[in-house]
Amino acid sequence: MSALLVDNIGELVTNGVGEDPLGIRRKAAVLVEEGRVAWVGPSAYAPAADRRIDAGGAAVLPGFVDSHAHLVFAGDRAAEFAARMAGEPYTGGGIRTTVGATRAATDDELRATVRRLRGEALRQGTTTMEIKSGYGLSVADEARSLRIAAETSTETTFLGAHVVPAEYADRPDDYVGLVCGPMLAAAAPHAKWIDVFCERGAFDVDHARAILSCGQAVGLGVRLHANQLGPGPGVQLGVELGAASVDHCTHLSDADVEALAGTVHDDGSGTRTVATLLPGAEFSTRSPYPDARRLLDAGVTVALATDCNPGSSYTSSMPFCIALAVREMRMTPAEAVWAATAGGARALRRDDIGVLTPGARADLVVLDAPSYLHLAYRPGVPLICQVIRNGVPQ
Ligand SMILES: [Zn+2]
Repeated sequence: MSALLVDNIGELVTNGVGEDPLGIRRKAAVLVEEGRVAWVGPSAYAPAADRRIDAGGAAVLPGFVDSHAHLVFAGDRAAEFAARMAGEPYTGGGIRTTVGATRAATDDELRATVRRLRGEALRQGTTTMEIKSGYGLSVADEARSLRIAAETSTETTFLGAHVVPAEYADRPDDYVGLVCGPMLAAAAPHAKWIDVFCERGAFDVDHARAILSCGQAVGLGVRLHANQLGPGPGVQLGVELGAASVDHCTHLSDADVEALAGTVHDDGSGTRTVATLLPGAEFSTRSPYPDARRLLDAGVTVALATDCNPGSSYTSSMPFCIALAVREMRMTPAEAVWAATAGGARALRRDDIGVLTPGARADLVVLDAPSYLHLAYRPGVPLICQVIRNGVPQ
C-alpha cells in the first residue's frame, strides 16, 4: 500500500472540531492512504510513508467544493458582457443565445469545453465541481449534456427548467410537461440532482414545484436557483421541499431568512437547506451582492460557489469568490473559506469532502502563502501551488 505524507504544514485548515471554526492545526502533517486521509497530527509525530511532500511551512486546506456550475455549453457571450458594462441591464434572456450554440455543437466540442473549464478550476484548487445541464432544453440535448457532465463529475444536475426555450415561448405549460415527462426520463439516469430557475421571466413557483416534485419522485435531490433578480417565493419553496440548497439568495425577506435558519435545530441537527451565494454573478452583472452577514448572523448555513457560466459569471475561480465574499458581502476570511469548502460539501449533502479529518477524501490544496487569510488578502494572485485530489498529486 502506497502512503503519501504531506508534511511541514505551517497552518492546516481541517474544518474539523477545534477551538476555531476552521479546526486549524499548526506545524501539522497529513497522511494519505488509498485516496483517503488516514491520519492528521503534529509534524513531529508523523508516521513514515513511501512518498513525502514538503509543504515548506505553507498553509494547506481542503480542496474547494464548487457546488454550482454550468459547464456544458458552446460559444461565449463576451459581447453581452461588454454591453452590460456599458449600461445594459441583465435579464437572463441571453441564456437562449447559448442554447442555440449548444444545440449546434458536437459532443466533442461540448466535452472539450467541460474538460477545459474543469481543468482550469482544478488548477485553482477546486477538487469537487457540480455540473448542470440547462443549455440543451430538448430531450436529446439535455440527455447528452448530462451524459457528458457525468464523464467528469458525479455531482450532475438536470436543469431542463433553466428558461422556456423559444419554440415553447407561447405555451410554457407544454414545456413544463415535456420537462416532467420525456426529458426527465432521459436525463435522470445521468443526474443526481434536479434544479429549476425560479424567477420572473423563467419559471414561476407552481411550475417550479411541479418540476422539482417530479424529480424527487424519481429519486433526484432538489436544489434551485431562487431570489437572484428580485424577491420571490423560490427560497421558501426550496425549504418546503427539503432542498439541499437554494442558490443566489440575493433578494431575501425576513421570512426567507427565518425559513432557512429554521432548517437547523439548536443542536445542529436537522435537514439543512444551505444558502449558496454566487458573488461572481453579482460581479459580472454589476448587481448588489447578497447580504451574507444577515444569513450568518441568523444561523443559516452558507456556501460559496462560482456559478461558472458563459452569461452571468464566467469565472471558475473559488479564490476569486472568496475574495468577493470577504470584501463585498461582509464575510470574515474564515467564514468565506469554510463556505467554499465545508459549506459547498453541505450544499451537496456530502460529509466526505470539504474537511481534512481521518476518513475524508484526500483532497488537499497547498497554498503559496503562510495562511488561508491570503486568499482574500491577495486577490487575483495565483496562490494555489499544489493540488492533491483523491490522494493523487495533480
Ligand atoms: Zn446558476
